[in-house]
Amino acid sequence: MKPKYIVLDRDGVINVDLFDYVMDVKDFKFEEGSYEALIELGKNGFEIIIATNQKCINLGLISFKGIEEINNYWVDIVTKAGVKIKSVEVCPHRDEEKCECRKPKTGLLKNAEKKHKISLKNCFFVGDKLSDIECALAHGCIPILVETGYGLRSIEERGSRENLIITKNLSEAVNLILAKN
Ligand SMILES: [Mg+2]
Ligand SMILES: [Zn+2]
Repeated sequence: MKPKYIVLDRDGVINVDLFDYVMDVKDFKFEEGSYEALIELGKNGFEIIIATNQKCINLGLISFKGIEEINNYWVDIVTKAGVKIKSVEVCPHRDEEKCECRKPKTGLLKNAEKKHKISLKNCFFVGDKLSDIECALAHGCIPILVETGYGLRSIEERGSRENLIITKNLSEAVNLILAKN
């Protein structure tokens, strides 16, 4: 099976957004149905790129290694279940740093593309914030907004983005994607 790629935000999509930073493995809880949704993606030949803003790193709240440990924790769990997490792209920067990777900038996607010599154009990108949606659109991905995490707030704030695909959660997003593929 030729790999298909999908981009996922992490907090509020895969794990429950604490409306604070996830700074310990014990704070990482899968959103309802997200673990199963990742497995479905794996079964259907999707390889997953994670694009996550983690300014808590440059706020000095946690080290890059600390974030890596949290990601290794859940990536190990799903990898053992047959899911292929191709890349975990992390932006450590604060807004003021004006980096090229903090979403809605597209640097995280470009990094993954370069690293793996792949294209993420026309891939689905599932997120819970408007910064995910804007990043997806700017890069030529197809955005899906979930209602989990900041999603309900994002729906209210989406303004002219009326035609967005909105799903209850990652599980529903994956069902929709698999129905289209
Ligand atoms: Mg999020
Ligand atoms: Zn950055």
